[in-house]
Amino acid sequence: MTAPAPAEAAPSAGTRAVDESIGLGLYVHVPFCDAICTYCNFTRGLFDAALVRRYVEVVIKEIATAPTARAADTIYFGGGTPSVLEPEDVKRILVACRSSRAVGADAEITMEANPESATAARLNGYRDAGVTRLSLGVQSFRDAELATLGRLHTSRGARDAVDRARQAGFDDLSLDLMMWLPGQTIDAWLESVDALIAMEPDHASIYLLDVYPNAPLRDEMARVGSTQAPDDVAAEMYLAALDRLDEAGFQQYEISNVARPNHRSRHNMKYWTDGSWVGFGPGAHSTLRADRWSNIPDTAAYVARLEAGQDPTQARQRRSAADQASEAMFMGLRLAGGVEVAGVEKRHAIDVRARFGAALRPFIDGGQLVDDGNRLRLTRAGMLLANEVMAVFV
Ligand code: SF4
Repeated sequence: MTAPAPAEAAPSAGTRAVDESIGLGLYVHVPFCDAICTYCNFTRGLFDAALVRRYVEVVIKEIATAPTARAADTIYFGGGTPSVLEPEDVKRILVACRSSRAVGADAEITMEANPESATAARLNGYRDAGVTRLSLGVQSFRDAELATLGRLHTSRGARDAVDRARQAGFDDLSLDLMMWLPGQTIDAWLESVDALIAMEPDHASIYLLDVYPNAPLRDEMARVGSTQAPDDVAAEMYLAALDRLDEAGFQQYEISNVARPNHRSRHNMKYWTDGSWVGFGPGAHSTLRADRWSNIPDTAAYVARLEAGQDPTQARQRRSAADQASEAMFMGLRLAGGVEVAGVEKRHAIDVRARFGAALRPFIDGGQLVDDGNRLRLTRAGMLLANEVMAVFV
């Protein structure tokens, strides 16, 4: 392949002080699933053993020819469903990562998994391969809701997968839940939240269901006449869940994420703190200082390009300092601790308050945003209006 060419030795125009000692994140996209969920809008396709074999070979090739050899301290297998991969394949991909650059002995190595494919043999194998963190896509602890979403597992299956993960030695375990499901009441939602708390994960993510225009779930909702709750009820669901997670000892550190002490997702923190990461696999995005690029999302085309020795990149962009500053601000505002304004100003040579202060003032006066002179942060009520606040920077 022709490697993307963000200059490592010569910083790009518009790039300022970046601490190269901060590790790079590596992202590996695994675009295969055992079934397609009714709401899914990700880069994925049905499991195809022959294509998986070819994918593993070319993703290793892509990693080996990455455009930077900067040291990494996190690796993240996302999908799709990474747990459809056999441990031997995961091991080979991790060896390729470690061969291409320094990867610290204490690196966080996360794998997303679905309960039905997270068998004991695979979980043990992933641990042996070096995976340190597991993120299980539970979505709901109610079987009827799981069926509506087209998930293959049941509530019992999710609980059993958590047990298997713990038995395999995963002591950094995250569970995902999805709220605002069609017909879901506040009580039904909180039933899942309580079930999650009872499983005692180290980290949890709560996402709002987004029913995109052509989703099969939208047709099904029309057929059975179900709807998502009004916005004010969704807000109540969100706040009530966070209250329960607070009480259970979790700390909210991002709009959708809570963790026990020392269990934040180090990899995802890179997205929210102006970090750099390189993505591999179909549809994977990369950001290296001012440079951003993404791979072609079609898996067969991605594989064919790499097999032919061609570049799998589809789009490439060099961001201006102003664009980098804006993004650093609105991504940083996702964090409960907010964004350190002086850091953004230093990295991107911008006066944040002079540029955005007037537009932010109504949110500060309205109690959605706090400016303590050092950091700008959303209040929890402000998180409900996050998109409106972040629009100031777009
Ligand atoms: S498991 Fe995830 S990526 Fe796969 S179809 Fe379902 S939502 Fe999409």
